[in-house]
Amino acid sequence: MKNSYSNIFTFNKKILKKTIKNLSLGKVIGLPTETVYGLGGNAYSKKSIRKIFKLKGRPKTNPLIIHYYNVNYAMEDVVLNEYFKKLYKKFCPGPITFILKKKKNSKVHSSARAGLNTVGVRFPKHKIARSILKKINFPLAMPSANKSTNVSPVSSKDVYEEFKKKISLILDGGKCKIGIESTVVDLTNNPKILRPGIINKSKIEKALKLKINNTNNSKKNRSPGMMKKHYSPGIPVLINQNKSDGKSAFIYLGSRYKNKKNFFSLSKNSNLDKAASNLYKIFRIIKKNGYKKIQISKIPNIGSGIAINDRIRRASKS
Ligand code: AMP
Ligand code: MG
Repeated sequence: MKNSYSNIFTFNKKILKKTIKNLSLGKVIGLPTETVYGLGGNAYSKKSIRKIFKLKGRPKTNPLIIHYYNVNYAMEDVVLNEYFKKLYKKFCPGPITFILKKKKNSKVHSSARAGLNTVGVRFPKHKIARSILKKINFPLAMPSANKSTNVSPVSSKDVYEEFKKKISLILDGGKCKIGIESTVVDLTNNPKILRPGIINKSKIEKALKLKINNTNNSKKNRSPGMMKKHYSPGIPVLINQNKSDGKSAFIYLGSRYKNKKNFFSLSKNSNLDKAASNLYKIFRIIKKNGYKKIQISKIPNIGSGIAINDRIRRASKS
């Protein structure tokens, strides 16, 4: 069934067929995952990858995450190791991306890996993403479905807002459960977390039975393409705020300012997972309401708070 937006579709068997046809022709589509909505295309096709970079305005140096149905497909393109096997068993399918060495005869197009000899691989859990991945004979290169540096989309309408009619197909899968991007963990050497997410460091350490060193921010250790400014709602963002200035949108945890104008709670009962899942939605609401600035109170740097702080810190860089 078509929605009132002519390129947003409710997922069903007929649309699955259309999706597969589109992807096989090298087209790029918007689709839901459990983290955020993605802009997906054939990871083996130069044409598809070029379209993704162009639509997003993404720097060519920023590699794309490659999405597979399961490990049997991924092992064609990357070299698996013991760290990977443990984490895969524990967390996949799910919101975690593994950086692995590429196989010599990997078919992932070099532009999708930004010319690196590694590939970022993920196994999404979302039913719609999985039913597509199961039916196609190539993996999906899929960054978040937003213009480069913008906030990631968490609903099909957010995707529409970003690209309007520039993509012919956006699959609707409701609001993303997790709401922020996957954890990125580099497994090419000693495991290193390149981007924090809901699957946090202590969960990964527990699964691997080892301590992971904190990634320092030196250039060498940063993930390629991990720009300082990112996830930006397009208006100034101030973090660690303790007092509202009376006119900016004020984001906080809890219910202290319930029903008060200009105040937006990430989670009424201060649940950090819930807060992460609401962050981008609230950024978009604030922007739509015409606020000129966002203040955010201090967010505890524990559990999913670490991922939230990573995103809001970057959103605050101008
Ligand atoms: P996005 O697609 O916007 O969620 O961002 C994906 C991020 O994953 C990139 O910005 C990189 O930092 C990281 N990434 C993807 N592939 C690789 C790779 N081969 N090596 C290191 N980092 C990667
Ligand atoms: Mg992104």
